[in-house]
Amino acid sequence: MKIPFTKPTIKKQEKEAVFGVLKSGWLTSGAKVIEFEQALKKYIGCKFVKVLNSCTSALNLALLSLNLKKQDQIITTPFTFCATVNSIIHAGAKPIFADIDRETFNIHPQEIEKKITKKTKAILIMHYGGLPCDMDAILEISKKYKLVIVEDAAHALGSQYNGKKIGSFSTISCFSFHATKNITTGEGGAIATNEKKIFDFVNKAYFHGIDIQSWQRKGSWFYKVIYPGFKYNLSDILAAIGLEQIKQLDIFIKKREKIANIYTEAFKKNEFISYQKVSANKRDSYYLYPILLNLEKLSIDRNFFIEKLQKKGINTSVHFIPIYKHPAYKKFFTKDDLKQLRNTEYVYQRIVSLPIYPLLTQNQINYIISSINDIIKKYRR
Ligand SMILES: *Cc1c(COP(=O)(O)O)cnc(C)c1O
Repeated sequence: MKIPFTKPTIKKQEKEAVFGVLKSGWLTSGAKVIEFEQALKKYIGCKFVKVLNSCTSALNLALLSLNLKKQDQIITTPFTFCATVNSIIHAGAKPIFADIDRETFNIHPQEIEKKITKKTKAILIMHYGGLPCDMDAILEISKKYKLVIVEDAAHALGSQYNGKKIGSFSTISCFSFHATKNITTGEGGAIATNEKKIFDFVNKAYFHGIDIQSWQRKGSWFYKVIYPGFKYNLSDILAAIGLEQIKQLDIFIKKREKIANIYTEAFKKNEFISYQKVSANKRDSYYLYPILLNLEKLSIDRNFFIEKLQKKGINTSVHFIPIYKHPAYKKFFTKDDLKQLRNTEYVYQRIVSLPIYPLLTQNQINYIISSINDIIKKYRR
């Protein structure tokens, strides 16, 4: 058996939607983009949505909208994709890292509070694997110290906290439609906000800084550049795929949840494996299903475990290589900083992301579980 780590669900309706746009003669941003924005706004339940060419672009605009200065500090997680941290650096501020929780792999509210200084301007959180961060505690901190919350919600479209969708109740949320994410447009992203001021900035900056979009110019040649902006727009070809995908999102999440429940049931009484703790007030979108290996009870390390699964035809992954391991960010960490990121290192040493996607079959899931059990049986201490 050969099981890929991830696989997008693309059906007839996505293909027909793309064909429709190609036939229409309007390929760049237009009616489909507006329709996709409306659908997202309705799904998330927020005031404003702008779709963009990636979540990375969304993060860049989110951080730029805060008008940061060189000495400003943004607290974030070291257990994330590099794009999260790059957005802080590109906005000219300094990333400060707070350790994660060992049970959720999300940034720990207490660790955030420890890192707050007079220079702290915002908290950039990331909902790991689609499991929402502890928002009550984080919102309380943000109120107490007057800090903006920016969400890297690349994994969290459809996730809920206290019955509310991620993106519906905080200042800025950034979503991804990259090929591996819960819905995809191939490449794509969106920024969601409830604040008119932030939306106005995004609208001003995302397309060169041109004040009226070319599709609104109705053939007129005249336009004004009011800000030195970016080229972050999504095309109608991709928006048409997104429109078909969002219709299926709740079904996709249900399928992912079903797979997660099968894994969890299989590992429940397994002393060699633990998994992310999902508390009752959270709805996980299950972008990832990460397990932690109990290295104290095994004679192998995580990398060897991944190799063994690979030999059985099962592709897995690791989310994420901690930010402090990458050469580009070494200068942001002193030895003392690293000592305060012990949970991140602990989780990183043990973590493996298992395949989880709507097209995964019951046979494949059974094979993954039995392969894991075989490896454990062989290498238990
Ligand atoms: C995928 C991902 C991104 C980047 O998304 P793009 O749409 O590819 O730019 C950002 N942050 C996290 C945590 C991600 O997993």
